[in-house]
Amino acid sequence: MIVVLVSPYPDLTAFGLRTLSACLRRAGIEARMVFLPDRASEDGAAGPDRYPQAVLEQLAALCVDAGLIGISLMTNSFDNAVQITRHLRQAGRIPVVWGGVHPTLRPQECLEYADFVCVGEGEQALVDLARALVWGGDTRAIPGIWDRRAGSGPGVPPRPLVRELDRLPAPDYALEGHFVLDGSRIEPLNLARQRQFMAGASLSSLYGRIGYQTLTGRGCPHRCSYCANDALRTMYPDSPPVRWRTADHVMQELEAARRAMPFIEFVWFSDDALTSMPGKAMREFFGQYRERIGLPFSCLTSPLTLAAEKMDILMDAGLFSLQMGVQTGSPRIQKLYNRASMTNERILSAMNCIHAHRRRMMPPLYDIILDAPFETAEDKRQTVALVARMPKPFRLQLFSLTFFPGTGLELQAREAGFMHGEPPEIYRKSYEERAPGYHNLLLTMARGGRFPSPLLRFLAWRPVAAAFGGDAFKPAWAGIFTALRRLKRRFFRP
Ligand code: SF4
Repeated sequence: MIVVLVSPYPDLTAFGLRTLSACLRRAGIEARMVFLPDRASEDGAAGPDRYPQAVLEQLAALCVDAGLIGISLMTNSFDNAVQITRHLRQAGRIPVVWGGVHPTLRPQECLEYADFVCVGEGEQALVDLARALVWGGDTRAIPGIWDRRAGSGPGVPPRPLVRELDRLPAPDYALEGHFVLDGSRIEPLNLARQRQFMAGASLSSLYGRIGYQTLTGRGCPHRCSYCANDALRTMYPDSPPVRWRTADHVMQELEAARRAMPFIEFVWFSDDALTSMPGKAMREFFGQYRERIGLPFSCLTSPLTLAAEKMDILMDAGLFSLQMGVQTGSPRIQKLYNRASMTNERILSAMNCIHAHRRRMMPPLYDIILDAPFETAEDKRQTVALVARMPKPFRLQLFSLTFFPGTGLELQAREAGFMHGEPPEIYRKSYEERAPGYHNLLLTMARGGRFPSPLLRFLAWRPVAAAFGGDAFKPAWAGIFTALRRLKRRFFRP
């Protein structure tokens, strides 16, 4: 039995899919991986046809001897998965299983396209499914697998989350049996291509050095209402919010990665909030990291989990860049996002911890969510006012709000009449396309961290914001945003 695993994600990290591949191989099942990076899906650029016909035909040829095809997807790669599945179905009768965050939250919808849907974590479920297909087992009896042809679905018991993450193998970075869409052709993945794609990944491009992305655990201690973690916590109420791998397990992975890819220049820990690790465990983890790996690293944090002592541990181990979600400066919207405890004072306090080390690290990245239809002009003004108080240097990452299915915020948006259209159209909303407006323009100008704070404070002053944010200026802001969009398309799109 050969299982072909397809990744439609924008880069070649695919941590989850590589872990599935490693699990299959460990179980004695041949796994083949095909990476079909689609940078357009990163910003949700609209359009159901993501790949040219010739690429789909090549993919079908790579699947011709497979017994099962697995596609991993998030909401913004829904179109990719649909297009791939439709083509593979026309080309042959090999069963297709979908897995990942979106199928976990929307299994019924995904079952309209795939033969099987994996709900929840798929490491053991996929092995069980492959074995059942080989030996003629009952696919309806596999926890976590919904089977369209057998009509099984909502009655299937969910599979509990993996408690001990150390039992899982490291992600599969063996090049053998791996393929990548390079330009207009799917080519075997070799070390040169692996390096080329890793260098082109978004964070590597931003920092000008080649990064290796990994996870030290799963989950997040917070439950922001717009985030998939919120829906997953509802699905698994008895599981701990965060599960960690041991330090040794992570270091073994990183040591192997460095041996296989000596060009790695930094490590990106992409855990949702690495700093939620208890202080003692963190000291142990980064003590080992400094001794055994010693590369500069970058990670994510949250305002509630960062403190001066943790910052010291990170800096001693080689932290050079940090990313933190700020999202809004409005207490009312913080409450709506289920982040009421992340007040502006807590946010600024965490920023000051980071600021104390500014000479030894790159400007931190702070995420802001724009275009929430729940926001009033005053809510938006408060966000600009918060940015005017942030210690410099910093860089803002501005995301236009998208409603992910199954989240608490999506439900509230539906009830409030803010959701327009049906899937898959609503999955195509771009989080890069900011709505034109006075406050968004101010944040766009402030994103590099160089805009003078006193001037920003003045422009966010209530009377000034009321005047420029009013209807009279709307055509002007719309014109400026159209011009900016054209410039971006002309000079910055790959
Ligand atoms: S802190 Fe980040 S990962 Fe955690 S729930 Fe909030 S948005 Fe999601």
